Amino acid sequence: MSTSHYDIIIIGTGAGGGTLAYALAGSGKNILVLEKGDFLRREVENSCPKEVFVKKRYKTKETWLNKDGKEFVPGMHYYVGGNTKLYGAALARMRKEDFGELRLLDGVSPAWPIAYEELEPYYAQAEKLYNVHGAQGEDPSEPPRSSPFPKPPIPHEPQIEELAKNLQSQGLHPFPLPIGIDLDEPDRLTGRCFRCMTCDGFPCPALAKSDADVNAVRPAREYRNVTLIRNAEVRKLITAPDGKRVVAVEAWATNERQEKEVQRFESELVVVSCGAVNSAALLLRSASDKHPNGLANSSGLVGRNYMAHLNGTVMAVHPWRRNRTVFQKTLAMNDWYFKGPGCDYPLGNVQLIGKLQKKMLLADQPWLPGPLSMYLADHSVDWWVLSEDLPKAENQVTLTREGKIQVSLATPTNVGAHRRLMTELCRALRQAGYWLILAKRWPSDENCSHQVGTLKFGRDPRTSVLNEYCRAHEVENLFVVDGSFFPSSAAVNPALTIMAQALRVGAWMRKNC
Ligand SMILES: Cc1cc2nc3c(=O)[nH]c(=O)nc-3n(C[C@H](O)[C@H](O)[C@H](O)COP(=O)(O)OP(=O)(O)OC[C@H]3O[C@@H](n4cnc5c(N)ncnc54)[C@H](O)[C@@H]3O)c2cc1C
Ligand code: SF4
Repeated sequence: MSTSHYDIIIIGTGAGGGTLAYALAGSGKNILVLEKGDFLRREVENSCPKEVFVKKRYKTKETWLNKDGKEFVPGMHYYVGGNTKLYGAALARMRKEDFGELRLLDGVSPAWPIAYEELEPYYAQAEKLYNVHGAQGEDPSEPPRSSPFPKPPIPHEPQIEELAKNLQSQGLHPFPLPIGIDLDEPDRLTGRCFRCMTCDGFPCPALAKSDADVNAVRPAREYRNVTLIRNAEVRKLITAPDGKRVVAVEAWATNERQEKEVQRFESELVVVSCGAVNSAALLLRSASDKHPNGLANSSGLVGRNYMAHLNGTVMAVHPWRRNRTVFQKTLAMNDWYFKGPGCDYPLGNVQLIGKLQKKMLLADQPWLPGPLSMYLADHSVDWWVLSEDLPKAENQVTLTREGKIQVSLATPTNVGAHRRLMTELCRALRQAGYWLILAKRWPSDENCSHQVGTLKFGRDPRTSVLNEYCRAHEVENLFVVDGSFFPSSAAVNPALTIMAQALRVGAWMRKNC
């Protein structure tokens, strides 16, 4: 077993770990970044719906177990950049109210240990780093901003512009969805984005989608003090005999002879950022005499309070109008974010997704006759419907005796609010002329793309795993900066909040570590 010593080790290069590497790169500290995956290859298959959605070319082959012990393949993408390599780059801030207590249909969404104002400057920095396009003043629920969006909103294509006007005429407030892409709409020669149809859920062959690989890890690697080791899967964190510090990490990695072996890397400070499920699993796997139930787990909360949003898709089909939109993901609505018509509890957010194509439909509904799926995909405008789920101790990530990951969503929450949100959206779309609506709710226990909450942050070590700067209460040199720190999920895409908090933690570390 080989060993080397660093000042800081960051494990994982997704929205959290990649952004933190960027934040710390200029610190002069000797930083090692360990990533389970490799760079995602640029190749023609990047944009092929059959390769990406039917053959699932970029998805992991590993399996997890659901609450009933049934195996499923999670929607995880292990690459430099993590899940941001395939995400939709919708980069929205949480609402100011999401940081306080909110009463939902099925209970109270807990307050965060920090106020919106504490994260606001880092939201602004993250938006700049990830080239976020947007418009201030059009979303009725938007939180206060210290600066405008770094880039102008992405213009709608004609059919979406027309739909936006119709929704406005119904008294709704559609607004430009904040998106991170390198697009210069008036002058396509300067931006790398050429506005294609395969963005959301695909890798970008032009490296124009703002992701943690391109926007954070690559710039960080320009500093000589930053080393990235790819294809290095961390399996265990080793603590000092008193259990108060992590002294080393063990990774399954390639040596100079190109053989895989367990390698040991020592460090003054260790940051875990493997995604909410894998980070909880790593801490559970790192149990020792001083931490018999998993590292930093005296509270028993490691792995608990797993959340992943209630997610649905709506295909709004115009019977005779062909939707020729190419880049569709430009509009969202928060009219029902805090309350719906006739109810005073929050329903959630709705936003357009990348244009659904025949092969993508068939990947999910293989029984659909080809011509019908072609007709539906050609005539639909496609939406993502997102509601908050509540943290519940019994919704948790555990390890089986054999060490396999089990994600048990024992108690779904807020299902009624999500159904109501779907109903409101469908009603508005029918009124806009989209008479045929196909709506689907994704099974929550296997849809883990918005996973958060398994190592929640807070001020009290009895009720949280991490402190306000994402440092483990019980292990003084251990931090976690992926989505696991969320004490509530809000009804907002999570990546920008993860990036902003990573920048905040990075600033704190530069001052204090
Ligand atoms: C198809 C899709 C679309 C999405 N669209 C959006 C969107 O539009 N907007 C939005 O906000 N969010 C979106 N998301 C969610 C978003 O991608 C995640 O919230 C975000 O990437 C989570 O960041 P993270 O740092 O927590 O984890 P990840 O980005 O998952 O990063 C974890 C990293 O850790 C590495 N890793 C894991 N285990 C180990 C180990 N043992 N050793 C070493 N490395 C390890 C992984 O390879 C990965 O690089 C989408 C996700 C998917 C899958
Ligand atoms: S729309 Fe732009 S950013 Fe998205 S995949 Fe196409 S080129 Fe890349």
